[in-house]
Amino acid sequence: MTVELRSYIGGAWRDGVRLSDDLNPAHPSEVVARTALAGAELAAEAVQAARSAFAAWRATPAPARGDILRKAAELLEERVESVGRDLTREEGKTLAEAIGETRRAVSILRYYAGQTLEPDGETYPSSSRVTFLYARREPVGVVSVITPWNFPIAIPAWKIAPALAYGNTVVWKPAELVPLTAVHLVQALLDAGLPPGVLNLVLGKGSEVGDILVTHPEVDAITFTGSNVVGRALQHKAIEHGKKVQLEMGGKNPAVVLADANLDVAVEQVARGAFLSAGQKCTATSRVIVERAILPEFQERLAALAQSWKLGDPLEPDTRVGPLVSEDQLQKVSGYLQLARREGGRFLAGGEATTINGEGYYVRPSIVTDLDQGSHVAQEEIFGPVAALLPAASFEEAVALANATPFGLSASLFTNNLSLALRFASEIQAGVVKINQESAGLEFQVPFGGMKDSSSGSREQGKAAREFFTQWKTVYIDQLP
Ligand code: ADP
Repeated sequence: MTVELRSYIGGAWRDGVRLSDDLNPAHPSEVVARTALAGAELAAEAVQAARSAFAAWRATPAPARGDILRKAAELLEERVESVGRDLTREEGKTLAEAIGETRRAVSILRYYAGQTLEPDGETYPSSSRVTFLYARREPVGVVSVITPWNFPIAIPAWKIAPALAYGNTVVWKPAELVPLTAVHLVQALLDAGLPPGVLNLVLGKGSEVGDILVTHPEVDAITFTGSNVVGRALQHKAIEHGKKVQLEMGGKNPAVVLADANLDVAVEQVARGAFLSAGQKCTATSRVIVERAILPEFQERLAALAQSWKLGDPLEPDTRVGPLVSEDQLQKVSGYLQLARREGGRFLAGGEATTINGEGYYVRPSIVTDLDQGSHVAQEEIFGPVAALLPAASFEEAVALANATPFGLSASLFTNNLSLALRFASEIQAGVVKINQESAGLEFQVPFGGMKDSSSGSREQGKAAREFFTQWKTVYIDQLP
């Protein structure tokens, strides 16, 4: 029997206004689950529920909030195989990647459980003899969490865990394509003892429930990861309504390969960055800038590796690249493959959509060369397993090319030259820099976020998350004579 998924609001699972099918992108004829989609009214109820629960949650001692997060981590860890499997079935990344992502969510929950024991303020010397002066971090209030489908458990965890740890209540709207994974995360937190109303799940379409979650008077802050188009529109609305807002959006991430690089490492890491998760990461490598002296050898080896990686059902253990998440995504990526040809590009590997046993939204790992740096394919985020190769005559030209897009999320450099590595780290316009590592792959205890059009300038994860999910209160206390 197909599972039916509902929104979770104020401590109860709630029916929606209509049903929608959650499909397996490897076998679109398989309905993984049915979602009862919420409408705007239910979304508004979710905000009210979060507001009602806020006072008690905020008053709960931080270490007690941490205990619940720690328990949720334990429960999710026990369920990691089955949650990972469901994640693969609805999103399409390989089982190893899905289980890895679920483990990361476990670590994130544990990390923020630990953060509830950290200092929550500072004392200052006052200019007065009788004044005790301190500043303390307090929760922001009700936070709307709006998340994409490409990391359906890690991204929600890195927003929801700090939001809850610091005493906020949450209304979470996951992407429509991944409701089952969302329910698993909510269930782990509920089973761990999270009180009703503290976390509310709204399963709905962005176009139908998004506005309420951004503009409702009881919402204090919005944290969003997704596309630039939706993110910027949401930012305008949020600011107009006086809300705190945080955006993480697209990337067009470069990997620069210098002539002295260890080519075994560079080829493997570039392939991982460009093709794992079928390139559907905001930190995926999508431009590979290579010094001319090694370009022929590098491109031959990268193409051979791309062709050797097994494309197939993501539940099979030897699959390296699974399907794209949906038919829409397949259309979008296929459109870019055609555009690449029209823009003069030549494919060294891939370049086409395909099916496995007659079904699935697959695109072969694709490498395109001969493109102009200013072409659409070399400038726009594709979100598929497509890498554009661009030659560079020198380190300086490579860095200039790497910086020549509106985005600035992550960037890689492959070299043995320490001085150039340090110069790259300083000159590159990106929020995350990797030397001799793929552009994707993040650790959760350090800040994450982009520069330029990739973000709103804020940072997530690690201790940096505190900045968004809390606000300062400064207290002056005078001793009376
Ligand atoms: P992607 O699909 O590439 O992840 P989107 O920006 O389309 O990026 O989606 C990211 C999240 O934003 C999803 O949860 C989506 O439902 C939500 N969303 C889409 N439209 C809106 C909107 N108008 N207001 C608020 N959220 C929205």
